[in-house]
Amino acid sequence: MPVSCPVCDAVVSLPADAVVSELLRCRDCGTELEIESLTPPKVREAPVAEEDWGQ
Ligand SMILES: [Zn+2]
Repeated sequence: MPVSCPVCDAVVSLPADAVVSELLRCRDCGTELEIESLTPPKVREAPVAEEDWGQ
């Protein structure tokens, strides 16, 4: 299931056993992507989980 990276537009392949909210990494720009839906396949930029997140 190919989807486009929302950041750099590269094609990212979802694994066959992908599940919603699973994290992937775009191999072009290195951005963490979160699977938003499978039908249609859609990903979004994953929230950055850093220690100061939510300040
Ligand atoms: Zn990318």
